[in-house]
Amino acid sequence: METKLKLPRSCRIILKNMRPHELLAAQEIFTRMRAANPKYPGLSTTYRSMEILVKEGFVQSVDLGDGEKLYELVDPGEHHHHLVCNHCGTQIHMDECAIEDLREYLIETYGFHVTVHRLEMFGACEVCLKKKF
Ligand SMILES: [Zn+2]
Ligand SMILES: [Zn+2]
Ligand SMILES: [Zn+2]
Repeated sequence: METKLKLPRSCRIILKNMRPHELLAAQEIFTRMRAANPKYPGLSTTYRSMEILVKEGFVQSVDLGDGEKLYELVDPGEHHHHLVCNHCGTQIHMDECAIEDLREYLIETYGFHVTVHRLEMFGACEVCLKKKF
């Protein structure tokens, strides 16, 4: 909470207007901020604010494979991964990071310490599997 107060105003406005489990591009966030507050600064401020929010752990950036960076609200310092259906586009938010065991395996096997990782998985969701696509 204390760190939240130190965030620039533009960041705090964004946090207030994002909802959990929404994956939004910077452009969409900017459009929403402008709608809520006509005096909200420009798109470049939005990009900068998102970088700050990611760095401070309030937001995670997600790449679902189409090259566009998406942003999502998370509990401070937390992150999670997504299962994306190639057929209907459904995005399943996993409850938590699924690869803690892999980190230990990599340290033990390769002496490699992971500081940043990305993991989104693509496939078929339950509904599409039942429909056989
Ligand atoms: Zn599906
Ligand atoms: Zn998510
Ligand atoms: Zn993770």
